[in-house]
Amino acid sequence: MDKTSSFSIQKGKPIRCKAALCRKAGEALVMEEIQVDPPQAYEVRIKIICTSLCHTDVTFWKLDSGPLARFPRILGHESVGLVESIGEHVDGFKQGDVVLPVFHPNCEECKDCKSSKSNWCARYANDSISNTRRYGMASRFKDSTGEDIHHFLFVSSFSEYTVVDIAHLVKISPDIPVQKAALLSCGVSTAGVGAAWKVANVEEGSTVAVFGLGAVGLAVAEGARLRGAAKIIGVDLNPDKFELGKKFGFTDFVNPTLCGEKKVSEVIKEMTGGGVDYSFECVGLPSILSEAFISTRTGSGKTVMLGMGKHAAPISLGSFDLLSGRTICGSLFGGLKSKLDIPVLVDHYLKKELNLDSFITHELKFQEINKAFELLEEGKSLRCIIWMDK
Ligand code: NAD
Ligand code: ZN
Repeated sequence: MDKTSSFSIQKGKPIRCKAALCRKAGEALVMEEIQVDPPQAYEVRIKIICTSLCHTDVTFWKLDSGPLARFPRILGHESVGLVESIGEHVDGFKQGDVVLPVFHPNCEECKDCKSSKSNWCARYANDSISNTRRYGMASRFKDSTGEDIHHFLFVSSFSEYTVVDIAHLVKISPDIPVQKAALLSCGVSTAGVGAAWKVANVEEGSTVAVFGLGAVGLAVAEGARLRGAAKIIGVDLNPDKFELGKKFGFTDFVNPTLCGEKKVSEVIKEMTGGGVDYSFECVGLPSILSEAFISTRTGSGKTVMLGMGKHAAPISLGSFDLLSGRTICGSLFGGLKSKLDIPVLVDHYLKKELNLDSFITHELKFQEINKAFELLEEGKSLRCIIWMDK
């Protein structure tokens, strides 16, 4: 945290540093020296302190076709950093600030950013293709041969330095430990806790089913528990997740492989006398979404889709199941507006109301980043903190 003096020397100049490059779909990331250009107007160059791996990184790492499959690329979108330098027209950020880059934009100026109805930034959120928010395919990264490297989700945190647009940046209190704060930039408390609080608005005494007990699903349970849900059922193929799930408020578990002839939705209906009030899909498979949908109570059940499948595959729902009064919606970033809501979550953590600690199952050095992929894929980790300086 004391390296701000060396920052001044680099201001306005390219920085050479290490990054973990994804050169080909599904192949191990390679540590290379890259060039990170200075920030342009409305951009900030950040020194990443630590980052973590979310399943969305794994999905894009494996993606080998379509417009979103682009290489070479710097993945990573959960992180905390220090502001190294700022471009023109950047207000509210200065060198040395502790910041959280966030994949979901929040321009604060468009109709939707000004409305409390959603967290969809009408100005920017429809573009998920560009490298840089205001400059299209222009990249701030080059490899040693001078070839452009693609950004990822406007963050690219698997690099010692990155450049982020101010619409994707939140200044946070330096009081929160950085590794805990990193979890707030995506899956953990934001997508999960936000979905239970803001999107579903789970109320006291209600019943909840969560499909997929990764960090996102566990965070949904944490949010539902804080809201006073009476029964929180976890559905996962990996029984190792059940013991862990108890720490996050799960009261019951269903292993689909042990349901015999019955569908998971039938088992859940039996457990709850007709279906849960709320269900959450946290895996990213259309078939699971259908099961989550019919696990809810006829007439009033609500399903929230959080999982991100490959190629935005279509989903199929029974029309009568919908006609009979169930509702379904999806949510990116838990319905939260980053600039407004992340500081509130930081506050909840500092007051010991929000459990972030149990999500961190592993910590690694930047050099060991490929191990984080193995641990997540094998179902052994929830969040693995990767320290850039160690
Ligand atoms: P994860 O890999 O840690 O967890 C996924 C869990 O699903 C694992 O426990 C796995 O055992 C379980 N699972 C896999 N197949 C299953 C099946 N058929 N039935 C039941 N359980 C099954 O992943 P994560 O980081 O928690 O992310 C979960 C999903 O949420 C991913 O699709 C990710 O892309 C998405 N995501 C969405 C947002 C958002 O804002 N909507 C944010 C972050 C992540
Ligand atoms: Zn906006």
